[in-house]
Amino acid sequence: MNKSVVKTDLSSPQNTLEIIRRHGFAFQKKYGQNFLIDSHVLDKIIAAADITPDDMVLEIGPGIGTMTQRLAERARWVAAVEIDANLIPILEETLAGYENIKVFHEDILKMDIPKLALDYNEGRPIKVVANLPYYITTPIIMGLFESGAPVDNITVMVQKEVADRMQSGPGSKEYGALSLAVRYYAQPYLAANVPPNCFIPRPGVGSAVIRLTRHQDPPVETKDRQLMFRLIRASFNQRRKTLLNGLYNSPELGFTKEEIAKAIETLGLPAAVRGEALTLGQFAELSNLLAV
Ligand code: SAM
Repeated sequence: MNKSVVKTDLSSPQNTLEIIRRHGFAFQKKYGQNFLIDSHVLDKIIAAADITPDDMVLEIGPGIGTMTQRLAERARWVAAVEIDANLIPILEETLAGYENIKVFHEDILKMDIPKLALDYNEGRPIKVVANLPYYITTPIIMGLFESGAPVDNITVMVQKEVADRMQSGPGSKEYGALSLAVRYYAQPYLAANVPPNCFIPRPGVGSAVIRLTRHQDPPVETKDRQLMFRLIRASFNQRRKTLLNGLYNSPELGFTKEEIAKAIETLGLPAAVRGEALTLGQFAELSNLLAV
């Protein structure tokens, strides 16, 4: 499938630095640019993503193409979406000869992903793989879940702290709106912890690779999914307040104090319960009680 080209293993620090220097590339902090230079970590990401030769993979932020090359060797087709214009000529060089990669010079947050899957994968589920730009981790993940795009799994490098939030349950300090959204849409699996020295430049935080395998059907039933997520957001926006006050004070909701108190009581919860004590199932029940 691929033409024979001289392939440079970009995952070595020397080769990464050489390409960057030759192209006069300057890292842009605003784009969350920390390039992977560790071959073992790349192997772990690729293994966790469970790519088959029939798969279409969406890579978010290919950088200089280090992971893109490896993805193209396993998948049928790779769409790589990169925002930074200065990386496009570099990708043209490093991905030359790969006929199953298309680079899109676009902002992933503005991209129509359901259309991408329709145009290039006949609407069948795609796999998403990325060493994410950390400044937009949550909007990217939530956008993938909520866009209705057909997605099998999402395997991503994120800040360690975010990986912890994605996997935590009620009672832990990491538990929040992201934990509940992940639980609603997917099954999380921690594939690796990754220290800062695996990147150029080194990030100021630890990282982790997490795979989110999308549920076929949500684990809870909701009459109004959006209402459930509004309730979740309102509860955690005012984390230190009781659930009753958090929901009552939210500008996103219009319930009376009595309506909320009655729903909390019907759930069998104490009147002064905090949102952080509720499971996904309880948030779903609460939304079903409050939905009209
Ligand atoms: N995949 C490369 C690697 O592992 O070495 C680079 C990863 S780096 C952490 C994040 C990449 O995402 C950068 O290439 C950055 O320019 C790109 N990026 C940042 N914001 C983006 C956006 N909104 N849309 C698409 N790409 C973006």
